[in-house]
Amino acid sequence: MAGYPGTIISTMQQAGRAGRGKGESIATLVGFHDPLDQYFMKHPDALFGGSHEHAIIDLSNEYISAGHAMCAAAELPLRLPDDEAYFPALLAESLAALEHQGLVKNTASGWVYSGRGRATEAVPLNALSSQVFKMPCEGRLLETLDRTRAYREAHKGAVVLHEGETYIVEQLNLSSGIISVSKKPVDFHTEPIKTVDLRVIQELETQQKGALTVSFGAVEVVEQYVGYKTLRYDQVVGTESLDLPPLRFTTTALWLTVPEAAVERVVAKQLDIAGGIHGAEHALIAVMPLHVMCDRWDIGGVSTACHPDTARPTIFIYDGFEGGIGLAEKAVELIADIVTMTRELVRGCSCDVGCPACIYSPKCGNDNKPLDKEAAIVLLDELVAHMAKANRLNAS
Ligand SMILES: [Zn+2]
Ligand SMILES: [Zn+2]
Repeated sequence: MAGYPGTIISTMQQAGRAGRGKGESIATLVGFHDPLDQYFMKHPDALFGGSHEHAIIDLSNEYISAGHAMCAAAELPLRLPDDEAYFPALLAESLAALEHQGLVKNTASGWVYSGRGRATEAVPLNALSSQVFKMPCEGRLLETLDRTRAYREAHKGAVVLHEGETYIVEQLNLSSGIISVSKKPVDFHTEPIKTVDLRVIQELETQQKGALTVSFGAVEVVEQYVGYKTLRYDQVVGTESLDLPPLRFTTTALWLTVPEAAVERVVAKQLDIAGGIHGAEHALIAVMPLHVMCDRWDIGGVSTACHPDTARPTIFIYDGFEGGIGLAEKAVELIADIVTMTRELVRGCSCDVGCPACIYSPKCGNDNKPLDKEAAIVLLDELVAHMAKANRLNAS
């Protein structure tokens, strides 16, 4: 395996698939620069001994609920209220929305699927937003992408990898939803650069851990894809700007409001607080997929030395899917483990000032600036200490 596949589940699955048969076999995982890859190289027990990730499904997300209800109706007629046992949150609303789109019909035996084609094929497993972009090439449909992925992976100039061949995006047409590509063998790849603004809509849960506040709630995210980098292997060989309208969506997020004492410790050591918060945010996002089953691209982060909605230094981690699919919610439950492992990762990294295996992020919209590894360690130490203290108080 060239690089950690992203989840322990798929690592085991890939190894198992290659090793199918009667004889013994060996699977080899070569770690990349990424924090989780490097974490496993240093802590193989976490890969072999640990439990696998928590799979997430959030049936209170209207997009997910509607997709599942439609597929269920294609198998057997759905009946209200009996089948609410399986869809406790939104079954009636989902059926009404699907009926409106002509995808289900209420019959004497219950709600049945009435769309064209197979229902399961109409529900993407990893895409939720309603607008679908199509990528045709030479009379074939290469891919369908949701809005977020289209902006991220199929902007003008992007290199798209499909079945081992490379394609260059010539145009991303936002009104027709057509992505024009041409097949071209190239030895480089592209990575988008985006900036993110985030606004708290409603705080739904607050946990006080000493002076540290962990919150969960609804947020509005505005992602602006401002450009992209061209990379040959790991070297940046060019940067281009992009002219795309902002992507605006509501989702769920968790946020950590950094205690005053932690800020004071960073300042007393003459370290950079903004660089520390930013570094801690990157490392938290890198570690989160080990605890909550997702890809690092499925979650986003924003960190600032003073956020207008909290008036404090704050690290936000948001669910990258419209409406949220439960990633941030699960992470709140596991926050103590996530923060502890993040501290181990950054502390244990042998680099001096930060590297892709700890606080650098390939998806940083600020080009990995500012970053301060020492400040990140001081902050993470403080976060872990506050959580441990709060746990001791709870236990006693
Ligand atoms: Zn490092
Ligand atoms: Zn960043």
